[in-house]
Amino acid sequence: MKFRLPLTPEAEQELARERDAAHFHDECGVFGIHGHDEAAHITYLGLYALQHRGQESCGIVASSGREHLAHRAMGLVADTFGEKALSRLGGRHAVGHVRYSTSGESHLRNAQPICANTDGGPVSIAHNGNIVNAVAIRRELEGRGAIFSSTSDSEVLLHLLARSRENTMEDRFIDAISRVKGAFSLALLTDDAMIGARDPSGFRPLSLGRLDGAWVLASETCALDLIGATFERDVEPGEVVVIRRGRLRSLRPLSRSASRHFCIFEYMYFARPDSNLMGQNVYAYRKELGRVLAREQSVTADMVVPVLDSGNAAALGYAEESGIPYDTALIRNHYVRRTFIEPAQSIRNFGVKVKHNAIRSFLAGKRVILIDDSIVRGTTLIKIVAMLRAAGVREVHIRISSPPSTGSCYYGVDTPNKEELIAYRHTVDEIRDMMGADSLAYLSLEGLRRLADQELKSGICDGCFSGVYPVPVNVEEDRPQLSLFRAVEDEPDSE
Ligand code: AMP
Repeated sequence: MKFRLPLTPEAEQELARERDAAHFHDECGVFGIHGHDEAAHITYLGLYALQHRGQESCGIVASSGREHLAHRAMGLVADTFGEKALSRLGGRHAVGHVRYSTSGESHLRNAQPICANTDGGPVSIAHNGNIVNAVAIRRELEGRGAIFSSTSDSEVLLHLLARSRENTMEDRFIDAISRVKGAFSLALLTDDAMIGARDPSGFRPLSLGRLDGAWVLASETCALDLIGATFERDVEPGEVVVIRRGRLRSLRPLSRSASRHFCIFEYMYFARPDSNLMGQNVYAYRKELGRVLAREQSVTADMVVPVLDSGNAAALGYAEESGIPYDTALIRNHYVRRTFIEPAQSIRNFGVKVKHNAIRSFLAGKRVILIDDSIVRGTTLIKIVAMLRAAGVREVHIRISSPPSTGSCYYGVDTPNKEELIAYRHTVDEIRDMMGADSLAYLSLEGLRRLADQELKSGICDGCFSGVYPVPVNVEEDRPQLSLFRAVEDEPDSE
């Protein structure tokens, strides 16, 4: 029996915060190509198109058979791979990965694809998603002597595969993915095959394409467009595709989930608007969300202004539906880097002005409907409203094309602990007052779900809005508590 001492409210909060921080926040993009003379170059381009899915580290593993050549680094794809690096990655097959994590584990050791030499040959895995029982499996394996070299949830897949007693690599892979729960879209390279797989709920996207006879796997169709590949179809939830010698075999080894749970946040924010997810174009869907928002939350105003770029499509939809003119009177600097040198003397609203600036002559005296796709901590909008006021805007009406974000994501989108989410701690009226807006309204959960029913072929996961998480997560068990050695030679120089 377990006893727990009563805790003060502050300690309870602290504990909740720690538990919530326990899951890995990975956002990723995966890409793979099998049977092309320029495999590494094409993977580089594919990753370039998927850069929005992860900006912290990237990597490509290329192969012509029994040797896998890996190049992984911290940073952006274009900064990491030059002609020299790519020319070293010879072979007709390749998988690649882009990753972003805010879990404090921004180290090269967590960069992907992750590779290992097994008794069945080399294996390289690129993973998008989050395995919710990774820590439990890791503890079990460590208890039996396994040595892990990263803190990434994806590494358990490699261990399970290496230890499986099945005969072929594909059966070992199937054995491994049968043991994990949560979200995974995977591209895997063995010595003679590329394997793609999606978890039975289908949380994350994965598409199949063809290029010059080669098979391509990509998180989003925008990567297929860039390389000039034709879209073949999506990998289905629960499906494993094995590509070998130009042929594709489709397997259904995983027990079927009762329903599909495609991440609605991919449509709303995460994916690129030019991608089609499960047959539905992201841009069109975002516009439709704006239309629904306009019907649900109308207000008299002079102009509809998006928060660039996340609010663009929803604002257009809102404007079209309401008949109020669309105007991009709030400009965004697209070249802002995560770190820059701040002035020693404080400049008012410096933080927001680096990224956004208001065109005063268009805005002074106007009633503005300000549209964004979501509010996370609230920092962006608080500053933008102040900027609009300073530009002489008469009324600011904030409209958000999603319901209030009240919960973390456990399936692979980077959201902060729920205590940090402004809508978890405050009511809509309180948030409106904190922002200094005249009104604030969100899309309703019912409106979001109705639209998904009408437009999407898949069921959705809306856990970050509804608190309904389709695959159970034991946050306590999922708490990493991993102490590790640190290879400082991997770390970027800090100034
Ligand atoms: P905040 O200022 O913290 O309220 O963040 C709001 C802005 O962050 C909005 O413009 C969103 O488009 C954007 N956003 C929403 N979700 C995420 C996410 N998971 N990662 C990065 N940015 C996000």
